[in-house]
Amino acid sequence: METYIDEQCIVNTLQNVTVDSYAIKEILAKAKELKGLDSKDVAILSAISTEMANELYETADYIKKQIYGNRIVLFAPLYISNYCANDCVYCAFRASNRTIKRNYLTMEQIKCEVETLVEQGHKRLLLVAGEAYPPYSSNKRGLQYILDAIENVYSVKKRNGEIRRLNVNIAPLTVEEFKELKAAKIGTYQLFQETYHKDTYSKVHPKGKKADYLWRLFAMDRAMEAGIDDVGIGVLFGLFDWKFELLAMMQHIQHLEKNFGVGPHTISVPRIEPAIDTPFSQNPPYRVSDDDFLKIIAILRCAVPYTGIILSTREDPLMRKKALMLGVSQISAGSKTNPGGYSLNDDVDAQFSIGDHRSLDEVIYDLISMGFIPSFCTACYRLGRTGEDFMDKAKPGLIKQFCTPNGMATFMEYLLDYASEKTQSKGMALIQSMMQQMEPPIAARTQKLLQQIKKGKRDVYC
Ligand code: SAM
Ligand code: SF4
Repeated sequence: METYIDEQCIVNTLQNVTVDSYAIKEILAKAKELKGLDSKDVAILSAISTEMANELYETADYIKKQIYGNRIVLFAPLYISNYCANDCVYCAFRASNRTIKRNYLTMEQIKCEVETLVEQGHKRLLLVAGEAYPPYSSNKRGLQYILDAIENVYSVKKRNGEIRRLNVNIAPLTVEEFKELKAAKIGTYQLFQETYHKDTYSKVHPKGKKADYLWRLFAMDRAMEAGIDDVGIGVLFGLFDWKFELLAMMQHIQHLEKNFGVGPHTISVPRIEPAIDTPFSQNPPYRVSDDDFLKIIAILRCAVPYTGIILSTREDPLMRKKALMLGVSQISAGSKTNPGGYSLNDDVDAQFSIGDHRSLDEVIYDLISMGFIPSFCTACYRLGRTGEDFMDKAKPGLIKQFCTPNGMATFMEYLLDYASEKTQSKGMALIQSMMQQMEPPIAARTQKLLQQIKKGKRDVYC
């Protein structure tokens, strides 16, 4: 295996960038055609001046609305274990951090956590674990813990609710193991390269399996070989120069498109947050400023228009509000990053501190106030609209014909089953006004789903 990240090419591209307002305008006009951008365009945009940044932001917002409409997908992370054999210098779960309290959830505890999340209104979760599977059972492999956890998550049914899509962020697996993960019916397999810069990667991952840069770089290849065609990539911003990381990410995307015909289903944009007893996280070497962070999101939306961009509760409410106007399409809400944090105890330590402590209902209320449709939709995955099939609809902007009705239907479910009174009345008003603005065929499709929900049916989609 040889790396497909050409570091010299990235450095040359960044060095030879010349930025003028004419070139920027041309690139933004090209981005509006929704066909994506090449690496050189990304390099030029990453050098955009603050004066021209607004044009970039408007373009990103336009693209997000063209592809996905105004829905924002909501999810929560489900941390099931904070044991880890690796030693990532930025993470509180690293093996050498002897001060944190460790725990892994039993299957009963996992169900308890899921019940709590379902009762809040969640339908989509992201399962997260450190890379050391617990002393779960002497005769079972480590991965079996994850597979059993997935089965238990899907088994929970509480009143009208259940988890309908479980995405997974766990350490890279072999092709055979990925096949087992696929058979367990996961949604997206998510994994962040952290940094594509090889020397930096080695420095911040000094030991354990994660020290192997190439094993991680080719993880999505193995996942796709195993038939998992919705993969989510990401960079942990703060480890190295963000401009380098963006261009490297473009190379990763081109590699996946060339070899598997499909790019990433999602891109995540975590920034390093302070973590307990983790000095590196207090002062990361390439801390990304708020202004640059907004640029990163907007550039990604222009460059990879079909992808879902995910923003977590690492960011505070104000930053999340700004990012929502620049092309973010999925956010977590009401999150806890300690195993058992939703229902069991708060004395097990978290992975990092979060910036947005609002409840799901509060986040939804704010989304409604901004005119967004909060969505818990899982239709594409349930109907097999994944991988290339999904991209064929997302790329020309056809997916919103499904996102809007399905998003509205799941939003109506939330309003009827879980919302506070205040959120319910504001939400119903938004649905009413949205119905009046919709193109007739989409309105008809939406109306049909909403009628079914009002009559008591649940989990309806098109
Ligand atoms: N252990 C697996 C791994 O490292 O790939 C998967 C789960 S790990 C808990 C999920 C992600 O958390 C990592 O990929 C990393 O990007 C992120 N993370 C770790 N420490 C962080 C910190 N201090 N601030 C923000 N994100 C962090
Ligand atoms: Fe372990 Fe993942 Fe944290 Fe690294 S980022 S120490 S692999 S949990």
